Amino acid sequence: MALSYELRCRECGKRYDNAPLSICDECFSPLEVVVDLDAARADFTREKIAAGPTSMWRYKALLPVPDDYVPPTPAGWTPLLKAPRLAQRIGATNLYIKNDAVCLPTLSFKDRVVSVALANAQIFGFDTVGCSSTGNLANAVAAQAARLGLKTYILVPADLEAAKILNTQVYGANLVRIDGNYDHVNRLCSQIADRFNWGFVNVNLRPYYAEGSKTVGYEIAEQLGWRLPDNVVVPMAGGSLITKIRKAFKELIALGLVEDKPVRFFGAQATGCSPISTAVKTGADHIEPQRPSTIARSLAIGNPADGVYATRCIRESGGWAEDVSDVEIVSAIQELAETEGVFTETAGGVTTAVTARLYAHGRIKPDELTVTCITGNGLKTTDALNGCYETQRAVRPRLTDFEEYLEEGHQELAFGGVNVR
Ligand SMILES: *Cc1c(COP(=O)(O)O)cnc(C)c1O
Ligand SMILES: [Zn+2]
Repeated sequence: MALSYELRCRECGKRYDNAPLSICDECFSPLEVVVDLDAARADFTREKIAAGPTSMWRYKALLPVPDDYVPPTPAGWTPLLKAPRLAQRIGATNLYIKNDAVCLPTLSFKDRVVSVALANAQIFGFDTVGCSSTGNLANAVAAQAARLGLKTYILVPADLEAAKILNTQVYGANLVRIDGNYDHVNRLCSQIADRFNWGFVNVNLRPYYAEGSKTVGYEIAEQLGWRLPDNVVVPMAGGSLITKIRKAFKELIALGLVEDKPVRFFGAQATGCSPISTAVKTGADHIEPQRPSTIARSLAIGNPADGVYATRCIRESGGWAEDVSDVEIVSAIQELAETEGVFTETAGGVTTAVTARLYAHGRIKPDELTVTCITGNGLKTTDALNGCYETQRAVRPRLTDFEEYLEEGHQELAFGGVNVR
């Protein structure tokens, strides 16, 4: 059966059959999967989608897998939460959170990209898979590869958070800590993939991996009642996710599933690693690599593979990008948890703080329908909150002791109400 997707060069348009390839051999630009929308059109209605699985695989017709592919692991289909209490704090009136802090199976949006990448690793016959990772990708590859019985090599910068290391090792993956930053790790992975013929999800399988990010966009549209928002705020590491949400919206428009309307894209980075937001702010058309230094390690990619495309996506849409300090990231993690009951990792602190600033600076108007993308879970980066809460003395189990305790004033939050602007 003919497949309804293929690879295409993003710059020169050269077409390729499906293969573990990520770079055009003519012009050295990145390759991208193009799905045949006409093939999907007949069989892809709102009703069919609603009757599909409660996972990202309800959009299988728009993902690069064969029609008869049976996904082994449900991923995605995370809540879209109305966020009135956070909105009130930051001067918004129509704010939503796309909550991938609770994405399954490993609590970050990376579960989506890995599902699609490993499906293709199996199609191409790899028995060993891996990735270079800033943490969440490592967890997602390790978990899903374990379920598929694939051998796994995962390379990470040596300074990664302990929880992200443990969350990789527990699945039996070979975890290799590299004495260097993400960009060193990534370069080494390209060499390893060639040398050993392994399937690295974000290297030689990258075009397939990237398509998984589109499901964030499909879900936002469906969960808004098949409507597009006015604005989306997206954290950026390699810069892929933000471009794929835009691609998803364009596909839904082309298929007639949503009405065409302008959507502005806003990118979020940490100041300690802000190559993309810097390019947006200065108007540069290339990315100046940086040496990362931030607690937002999951976003700490100093030389982002899709940086130029992310910059274009933001500019063409009329959006903007901002970056925030580590102190602002910590405050925003607390603010989101206190107002909406969502505990996010440092990347979500970045997105929340940037969202607040975009309202404060008038880049987003209060009543515009805005979705802010929370992409990872706070339990993975608890170190970021070290020292924020005092350890309370133990109270004897008697009512009078409890009353005494209340009189001491402990009912006040240790670190509440910090302004994220
Ligand atoms: C990887 C990651 C991102 C950004 O993804 P890119 O597609 O590389 O820009 C955002 N948030 C979290 C938590 C991540 O792990
Ligand atoms: Zn090319």
